[in-house]
Amino acid sequence: MTETLQKGTLYVVATPIGNLADVSARAAWVLAGVDRVLAEDTRQTRRLLDHLDLHKTLTPLHEHNEDRQLAPVLEWLRNGESLALVSDAGTPLISDPGFTLVRAAREQGLPMVTVPGASAVTAALAVAGIPTDRFVFEGFLPPKPGARRKALEALAREARTMVFYESPRRVAGTLGDMGAAFGSDRPATLARELTKAHEQSVYGTVADLAEQVAEGLIPLKGEFVLMVAGAAASSSGLDVNSDHLLTELMTRLSVSDAARMAARITGQGRSGLYQRALVLQERE
Ligand code: SAM
Repeated sequence: MTETLQKGTLYVVATPIGNLADVSARAAWVLAGVDRVLAEDTRQTRRLLDHLDLHKTLTPLHEHNEDRQLAPVLEWLRNGESLALVSDAGTPLISDPGFTLVRAAREQGLPMVTVPGASAVTAALAVAGIPTDRFVFEGFLPPKPGARRKALEALAREARTMVFYESPRRVAGTLGDMGAAFGSDRPATLARELTKAHEQSVYGTVADLAEQVAEGLIPLKGEFVLMVAGAAASSSGLDVNSDHLLTELMTRLSVSDAARMAARITGQGRSGLYQRALVLQERE
């Protein structure tokens, strides 16, 4: 390695999302060289360090102690220690702790270096088969069904591919709500257990995926990423401005019928179009 490890620097280090062989040579070199490793779960990180044959001091840094740990961690950096921040899996700060520390280090002008590697969002998109030129990462949806439905309805007109992290307990319910919000014909990919022994990546419509989950062809075990094509990519192919269409339809139909008709014409989700129709009606 021609690079020299910098004193007083926070290294934000990505680790594998399952397969330990995915750890980069640079990540291993940084973990070997730093004075301390700040770990979300010390047992999980110990497994990675054992794999790399490294024996390091591990300091817990997770969502429950990040605020409390901030002052000592910043002090260590100011005293010239080099630190590595790692999460359980993948890239720290991506639906994982670390933001409070990184923001504080940024505000205090302390040096930071990123050590990139795996993240479930990019790993899943790479084999999804739905557009990846533009995408929006939504992380975890709200766990309560009402809030989840609202969040999805607000995304019904999103033109970019949407990426969600989801727990196995909620995948079936989320797919049902996605069908209602986006239309059950929307192309989607469900990725499960990426880089692990039971890796699975299934492409279809939202309805196909819900069916395969219901039939047990996609077991509700392990870790999941759900990706859904944006509204534009899944439209009928007609260049229709849905605001104009809804406005025109509402001159003859009720809001609800106009939304249903617009959903059939454009391929967009009925609930999203209904919400939009209500907004347009208020503007009239
Ligand atoms: N920081 C991680 C990253 O960069 O992807 C994400 C951490 S977040 C707490 C954990 C979620 O990421 C899981 O619930 C799942 O949605 C997704 N995930 C992590 N590893 C995965 C894998 N091997 N296969 C599929 N999804 C995964």
